[in-house]
Amino acid sequence: MQVDNFINTLREKGLNVTYQRILIYNYLQTTKNHPTAEEIYQVVKAEYPSISIATVYKTLETLAEHDLIKKVNPMHDLARFDGDTTPHHHLICSECRKIVDIHDERLDALPVPSNNGFQVNGYRVLFEGICQECLGQITLKADVDSDTVPVTFCGKPGSEASADEDPS
Ligand SMILES: [Zn+2]
Ligand SMILES: [Zn+2]
Repeated sequence: MQVDNFINTLREKGLNVTYQRILIYNYLQTTKNHPTAEEIYQVVKAEYPSISIATVYKTLETLAEHDLIKKVNPMHDLARFDGDTTPHHHLICSECRKIVDIHDERLDALPVPSNNGFQVNGYRVLFEGICQECLGQITLKADVDSDTVPVTFCGKPGSEASADEDPS
């Protein structure tokens, strides 16, 4: 949404048009990083030094409440904010917490659970993994220290270990 439209939308929703709201909304339109409130504060503070972190939090909550931005809560971590309100999904790196957008129509058409008394209003798929940069660092570390055994998350126990723990 362009800033002109954003201002009109604020008016339509009966919200005050403030410089802080425009500044924060504008920044979220220019970044794909899904920043935290703290990161947003650091950026907007440069342009508007008297803004407080409390105002940033409050503004983000208000904009999210009115669906002008989206709140992403990845892996019980700090809330992250998304200027893109179109249906899309996310990949998150469990190492550096980078969030990447996934646009895939197949994910928009997952079967919605029914018969549980819930009215489902929407969903977002969050894939967890390790990004290319972090994968590169892990490989690099393994190269330096040749004694390091590569970490496997779903490896089966070795034959020796299973023989020791044989319950019979
Ligand atoms: Zn990463
Ligand atoms: Zn996103």
